[in-house]
Amino acid sequence: MAAATFLRMLWPVAEANSLSGMPETVEPCHLKELAGESTIHTMNRSGLLALSAAVTLGMVLVAGQIEDLAERTDITASYEVKGDAIVLLEGTPEDWHADAWARWVELVPTSARWRVGRFDAIAGSVEGQVEPLSDSLAVWSLRIAELDDNLRDVALVHELGHLISLGPTEVVPATDPGVEQGCVTYFSIEGCAIPGRVFERFVSSFWNVEDGWETSDGAVTDRHSASPESFVTNYAATNPGEDIAETCVFFIYSLRPTGNTVADQKISLLWEFPELVQLRSWLRRGLAN
Ligand SMILES: [Zn+2]
Repeated sequence: MAAATFLRMLWPVAEANSLSGMPETVEPCHLKELAGESTIHTMNRSGLLALSAAVTLGMVLVAGQIEDLAERTDITASYEVKGDAIVLLEGTPEDWHADAWARWVELVPTSARWRVGRFDAIAGSVEGQVEPLSDSLAVWSLRIAELDDNLRDVALVHELGHLISLGPTEVVPATDPGVEQGCVTYFSIEGCAIPGRVFERFVSSFWNVEDGWETSDGAVTDRHSASPESFVTNYAATNPGEDIAETCVFFIYSLRPTGNTVADQKISLLWEFPELVQLRSWLRRGLAN
């Protein structure tokens, strides 16, 4: 499929705490890039370097800053997913691989992870990735680096945000050029956003896609700086795909917003979808453990 691009997950504490409605203590239950577009959705290790502190109940806020885009991902072991289990295809297994997969299975219900057919352990500067293994978006690879438990959880939730927003109820897969040509909503490289669904509503409500956007570090920082109340994190300003993935993290980890910033409105939009609220409850039970 399309060539790779590199996206990162960053979560500056100052930004997080400044969000209206973002509690200091959470309740206990618990791409399109127009330029260099890619189907790979990534978190990078620069967030880990600036890891700030875990907060209550295993919730974590990650401090970071956007650095370079010249990231590197090395797959060190690859596994086939068989139900809740993984079977080594190649590479050298390590204990953390099994631990990370087990955490994914624990956190995410089968209904939200059934398309993940490959699990890869990665090294390099990237913390997590998802990538469709076919244009049909029927099978995806989930990739994760060796991370602190709390950061790993954030990474998994971020990647789940991509899987959700590019799921079969969200986009018509770009299996032929006609999908893009006929798309009257938002076309990501994976497909055409389905009207009325969360991804389409998110993009049409909060992004001016006709104007396009740059994805260089400086452009992302400038976009965030121009309207910091519009994004849950700096990294969310990368593109609509990263914005909804980052918003999904805040949707899962934080209480329902009581403010009305654009970032609050983004989180609140996810609350309008009962299946996402149900998924949130499931995840929060796992995150509390
Ligand atoms: Zn991402």
